[in-house]
Amino acid sequence: MGDAAPVQTQTSRPRLHHDAAVLDIDLGAIASNIGVIRRASRAPVRAVVKADGFGHGAEAVASTALTAGVRDFGVTSLAEAEALRLSGIDAPILSWLNPVDSDWAWADAAGVEIALGSIEHVESVLAVSARFARPLGVHLQVDVGMSRDGLPPEDWKKAATRVRTAADAGLVRVRGIMGHLGRAQEAAGDEDGTKRFESAVRILRSCGIAAPRHLAATSATLNDDHTHFDGVRVGAGLYGIGACSVHPLRYAMKLSAPLIQIREVPAGSLIGYGHHHRCAEPRRLGLVPLGYGDGLPQTAHTEADVYLGGRRHRILGALSMDQMIVDLGPVHEPTRHRLGARVTVFGPGVDGEPTPEEWARHGRTLPHAILTGIGPRVHRRTHEYRRGEGS
Ligand SMILES: *Cc1c(COP(=O)(O)O)cnc(C)c1O
Repeated sequence: MGDAAPVQTQTSRPRLHHDAAVLDIDLGAIASNIGVIRRASRAPVRAVVKADGFGHGAEAVASTALTAGVRDFGVTSLAEAEALRLSGIDAPILSWLNPVDSDWAWADAAGVEIALGSIEHVESVLAVSARFARPLGVHLQVDVGMSRDGLPPEDWKKAATRVRTAADAGLVRVRGIMGHLGRAQEAAGDEDGTKRFESAVRILRSCGIAAPRHLAATSATLNDDHTHFDGVRVGAGLYGIGACSVHPLRYAMKLSAPLIQIREVPAGSLIGYGHHHRCAEPRRLGLVPLGYGDGLPQTAHTEADVYLGGRRHRILGALSMDQMIVDLGPVHEPTRHRLGARVTVFGPGVDGEPTPEEWARHGRTLPHAILTGIGPRVHRRTHEYRRGEGS
């Protein structure tokens, strides 16, 4: 033992392959999506940058959105709001999913508006309101059908009366009335939810609460202009989810990695954990260092493709935590690929590569989950947007 050389921890660092697994983030696509959404909306757009801007980087998305003409932001927590403030975003921010004992005085000092989604939230905010430097901006959040966040109908009057009294005393300022639809993504929209929101607005008004109404998120904004009221809150659409022929949104993420191994295997070879695939003929296989540990849905492997050298290639065998095996064709065909060639797992789809939506379909999940799920092991490379550039 005594003879072992001490491990050198300080002297040098490895040369890291930041271009191994890479997530390219195209802020120009986000700016272009904002343009599409603003044209589709009759009311101002609040950009929802929760979950680190759906995995794209909340600060980068927020500054892009400001450049593209957005004035207001939405996040879930005070922690997300603080990250934006620390990065110099001084635009209005609304935060809507906070524990009841959150630091409301900090929110007030930082100019962060708060959604009041339960009677307990109303009470806990009012309990500390004497400490506010100025009236705290609040939004009354009503549940319009999901039994989730938002005041239940039986509490609408009580909450409105309490908040109205506090507003009269100068403790809070009511900045909005908000709801969130549960079925807006369906073809028929969510008429019931919209009606429930309208009846909430009527009841709150009868208690003296009049403020800008905001209900629609991406689906309702793009598909049902009866839901736009005085503002819309858009997350998914900023990042390319919800595109159709009328609203040509574009995914802003491209996930890629190099081929780190190519091998030829004989007929009958078994592939991956569980040996779920057996090669019927001699096959050429590529190895790509990305897996479910990087956020890809493990269940997608039986159908998912990747894109390499101008065409699609099927994944063979089970998706591993760190790697996937890609079919590079029968051995009797000439080799078309070289070690280090870049494999696109998903992207905007413009070259024929799979989109996040396609991966989501194969994984029985949502594109939202694909975008927000890409792990920290993947190196992020953000491509700036400058006003007037590109689309
Ligand atoms: C996430 C969220 C949004 C944005 O929804 P998208 O469908 O992503 O546009 C809007 N409002 C609330 C309350 C949300 O939680």
